[in-house]
Amino acid sequence: MTSSPIIEARHACLTYHTRRGPIAAVDDACLAIAPGECVAILGRSGSGKSTLLALLGGLCAPTAGEVCFAGRPWRSRTRRETSSVRASRIGLLLQDGALLPGLRALDNVLLPAALAGKPRSALTTRAEELLELVGLADRWDAYPAELSGGQQRRVALARALAAEPAAILADEPTGDLDALAGAEIAAILARLRTEQSTALVLVTHDPALAAIADRRLWMERGRCTTMTDAAMPFIPTAAAFPAPPELTGVAVFEPPPADLSPLRPAISAGSLVRSWLPFLGGLAVAAAAVALFDGLIAKKQDVVVQTARAERRLAEEMAMQDLRADIDDVVVDADGKATVTAYLQNFRPERPLHVLGPALEVGIQREGRWDNVSIELETPPTAIRTIGSDKTMVPLTFSVPEGSYDELLRGYLHVRIGAAMVVSDRPDGTGDLFERLDAYYIYLRDPLRTEDEIRRTNGWGDKATVPLWIAMPSH
Ligand code: ADP
Ligand code: MG
Repeated sequence: MTSSPIIEARHACLTYHTRRGPIAAVDDACLAIAPGECVAILGRSGSGKSTLLALLGGLCAPTAGEVCFAGRPWRSRTRRETSSVRASRIGLLLQDGALLPGLRALDNVLLPAALAGKPRSALTTRAEELLELVGLADRWDAYPAELSGGQQRRVALARALAAEPAAILADEPTGDLDALAGAEIAAILARLRTEQSTALVLVTHDPALAAIADRRLWMERGRCTTMTDAAMPFIPTAAAFPAPPELTGVAVFEPPPADLSPLRPAISAGSLVRSWLPFLGGLAVAAAAVALFDGLIAKKQDVVVQTARAERRLAEEMAMQDLRADIDDVVVDADGKATVTAYLQNFRPERPLHVLGPALEVGIQREGRWDNVSIELETPPTAIRTIGSDKTMVPLTFSVPEGSYDELLRGYLHVRIGAAMVVSDRPDGTGDLFERLDAYYIYLRDPLRTEDEIRRTNGWGDKATVPLWIAMPSH
């Protein structure tokens, strides 16, 4: 090996202490992976492959020995640094997939880099190229539930590549896929291996995938040894297993349905966040918490999971309790233009809160249904804001449509303001992310009616105040 390794394990061990005694999941592992090298890790189930991968990616700390990334031990980095190195330099591809169900394929690919503050226009182009690479350019606007298991895995692979990582760590990337879908993933990984300088570490049972690697390691009872192809006759060598030509290009993918309309990706202000709204539907006060990216391997490691859970609870508490969001004020000008100012406020400012969004939408109830009206925002909802103890104001403006508004209270419009945001405890989005969805309801006085008219139709006394707006409890 000429260049210094990108990842190196030096006598790394990870012992789980269980009720029935210690289990050495990884026992004295020594390996070095060069930049651009492709290494397959094979072994029976339970032999320690996932644990080794988690150690290599800095997802858990060895109980003895050391693991280095880019020449520095993971343990010498702060937690924050570890997260940011993982986010920017390592692509994780996990068996459980970790796509956000409420985001389109393109947004799923974009999100990590968008949260890391990369400029959006370059990102969109990059995300499009990556979807093209995985043969899903035509499905950029599909939600995960609309994609097959293999297609979802391909989106996850595109996302793992978005940050242009120095290494991709993949845990059985073809494990639960049928032969063709598995071959598609293998084909992409094989192309990456030849075209990019990304190191690939592939944990796999799949001989076809193992065959694309430069070398193979065998794990047994936590021990990791170099595998000779002769010792493991069921593994074909790379030479004996040339990738068929149709596996080396995009031609391997099934063509998209012919009648898909050729829409171009739209990443106008707000589309990223707004694209959740259809999925999340009925904007009653609701919240969905979704762990991103590296949570999944870690989940398998109980030791790590205990801490992760505590941290997650903290992050969730922050997103749900410490972050106050509500309507501050409403004004209506002479032309019937309403300005509703929502605000965000951090009730525990010693813990910083970072918010992507909110994306806002306004609905007005008429004849029993909600009509959305178009709104203008001062700041695009894709901005990331740090929320402190002072109110962060988020004004929005809309024209009050003419009509008769007597839904619940005569002379008042019943207005719903939906707010969707992503809350994180870290500014770069490398921590846990929470989707928070709020809905606020107000009665807004119909600007086209006089106060006297409203008093009369409601049978109110002459002196009754006719407020411009009335806040409603959420319902
Ligand atoms: P593989 O990925 O090869 O199937 P793992 O790395 O998941 O293997 O597990 C290696 C060994 O460690 C297994 O014996 C497994 O039962 C054990 N193990 C994994 N996670 C834990 C845990 N959180 N607590 C205790 N033992 C564990
Ligand atoms: Mg495993």
